[in-house]
Amino acid sequence: MSRFGRDYIQTGKYLRQILPSLGVRFIAINDNIDTLKENCTGLDVSLKTIINDAYSQDISKKIRSVLEQKRKEGLYVAAFTPYGYQKSEENKNQLIVDEQTAPIIKDIFKMKLDGMSAARIADTLNEKGILSPVMYKKQNGYAYAKGGYITENNAKWSATTILRILKNEIYTGTMVQGKKTTYNYKLKNIIKKPKSEWIYVENTHEAIISKQEFDFVQNTLFLDTRTAPHKESVYLFSGLLICGDCGNRMTRKTVTCGKKKYLYYYCPTGKKACTSTHMIKEDELIACVLESVKKHISSIISLDKLLSNVENTRINQKIVQKYGKEIAQKEQKAEELKRFQSSLYENYIKGILPKQDYRMLKEEYTSKLKIVEKEISALNEKLEKELWHDRKEWIEHFKKFSNIMELDRNAVVQLIQSVKIFEKKQIEITFRYQSEYEETTKMLHSQKGVI
Ligand SMILES: [Zn+2]
Repeated sequence: MSRFGRDYIQTGKYLRQILPSLGVRFIAINDNIDTLKENCTGLDVSLKTIINDAYSQDISKKIRSVLEQKRKEGLYVAAFTPYGYQKSEENKNQLIVDEQTAPIIKDIFKMKLDGMSAARIADTLNEKGILSPVMYKKQNGYAYAKGGYITENNAKWSATTILRILKNEIYTGTMVQGKKTTYNYKLKNIIKKPKSEWIYVENTHEAIISKQEFDFVQNTLFLDTRTAPHKESVYLFSGLLICGDCGNRMTRKTVTCGKKKYLYYYCPTGKKACTSTHMIKEDELIACVLESVKKHISSIISLDKLLSNVENTRINQKIVQKYGKEIAQKEQKAEELKRFQSSLYENYIKGILPKQDYRMLKEEYTSKLKIVEKEISALNEKLEKELWHDRKEWIEHFKKFSNIMELDRNAVVQLIQSVKIFEKKQIEITFRYQSEYEETTKMLHSQKGVI
């Protein structure tokens, strides 16, 4: 009977109404049921169906919690592997890099950083004759989704597939699972979970894309959707060019003069909110930005040289000093609270403190302690972040572009946060890692005596 139906209301309905009305005889040998011999309205039949229902509910819950636990441990539990990875032979919950497809993942991210749209990337891969993820899996005998069907849509690379890959954090070595769920064991409809409920575990497998590169691509995707959602490729400054007066994004415009074509950027609200359109020629802007980028990089390189003369430990000592005092104070407070808590318990045991008061005070101290502990870990995190070893990363990032000759989308997105255009062609460029740059300069000033 448990094979026949797990939902006790439905099973009961079949046994008592539907099957008899169709003249169907139902026999369950183990359960000692035969609808010809008795009418199945007895209590034992109802009880059995209820138990079957509860049993499968219980099993479903157990499977769910086992899967949930595995996900939290960063074990891969999905049936299909993401393109670029394979399941390890020894451990089916472990992802390993697929040497054949990982380079294609790298190419896809690189093409995006070079300013190509998802549709263009898909076309390029199709032109090169590279198999789409589904076709690749089919040819190599790996499991693939879509119910095993190859359709016109998934046989070739599409913009959707490319975007799904570009947004998948799994390529940075972070396991992301639990994106979808089902309502319960009876309804198999798939429900998408909000991003805040996804399970993230870092460094569970080898990364194909660095975290930094991934973040840049996310930023590019964000800028692209805000500026040119349907365009084939994006302009050099798409999403980054802002009117200095009204804060609006500048618009690109082609002006034909005789046989010549000129490209301009202007503020679209110019005539209303803004006093001026801040019209600026594209080639003038490119030349100016390129010049500034070069200057900024060379100043970072000399900053780096100066820094190599400063002992890391000395810098770190200063940073530790800055936070150390505050952390020590908080730690003292935490110790005090712990002491109060234990004396509270002693007083309760001795009978000095009534139970109700004990409970109330205990709760109060516990919540206070939690707050202080949170503050301490936040301070430690801040301290760790500022320590010298982390700071170098952004310098290396700029140094990669030290031989820059011309501006491409990749360089613009990786080096520049925003470009503001003001009246009289005044331009204000905010570079990436601006705050790190400023802090380092400030720190060097304070270290003058040391260098
Ligand atoms: Zn404006």
